[in-house]
Amino acid sequence: MPISQDRPFEIIVLGPPVSGKGTQAKLLAKTFDIPHVSTGQILHSIKDDIANPLAQKVAEFINAGSLVPDELVNQLVADRIKKDDCVNGFILDGYPRTLSQAQAIDTAVKLDYVFLVNVSDETIIERISGRRVCKNGHVWHIKYSPPKTETVCDDCGEPLFLRDDDKSAVVKNRLEIFHQNMAPIIEFYERAGILIRIDGEKHIEEVFQQFVRHMIYDLRNKVNRSSGGSPSGTATI
Ligand SMILES: [Zn+2]
Repeated sequence: MPISQDRPFEIIVLGPPVSGKGTQAKLLAKTFDIPHVSTGQILHSIKDDIANPLAQKVAEFINAGSLVPDELVNQLVADRIKKDDCVNGFILDGYPRTLSQAQAIDTAVKLDYVFLVNVSDETIIERISGRRVCKNGHVWHIKYSPPKTETVCDDCGEPLFLRDDDKSAVVKNRLEIFHQNMAPIIEFYERAGILIRIDGEKHIEEVFQQFVRHMIYDLRNKVNRSSGGSPSGTATI
């Protein structure tokens, strides 16, 4: 059953880890005054929300260290996007993660845009495995924010190290799983004709401009169609 009728900004932002999709989702949310709905944030905050009947269930899965099942995540997202602050739409970040989640949201709302922030595996590995941290949690990057010497934290003088999770072999493994899960979702939205690919290798501002440009072209075409004018062609970005 559809939750909403005609909200203009029902948006999904997909992308691999460190693609910058979270940053872009926040920028879009601010620009269009719609909530940034992150499933990570929902799951995190519900644990303490004892008034919510689903909280107990979620807590059980999280405390057991297991994945929260699709059905439960779907319910949480559906509840969240029914709230009053979603009157003009929402931006979903971190959802859908599986094809069944994609199918669930597709029956619940009529999505306007599904953006995929593309970043090559090579870039992702460089972004993650270039990180260096100290025991106090200060984070550096050997290329993007290098400390004076590669082995010492400029903030506290403690030694810097590469976290196990950030090692390139681990990152490659995570990426493989990501691609496996994401391939059917991408295909699903491609068939529906609503997938928009964004080049995530550029600077934050340039990446953001691609989103906005696409939405402006799209809205202009909608206005042209509804006023009887001819569409001005598809956007080339
Ligand atoms: Zn430090």
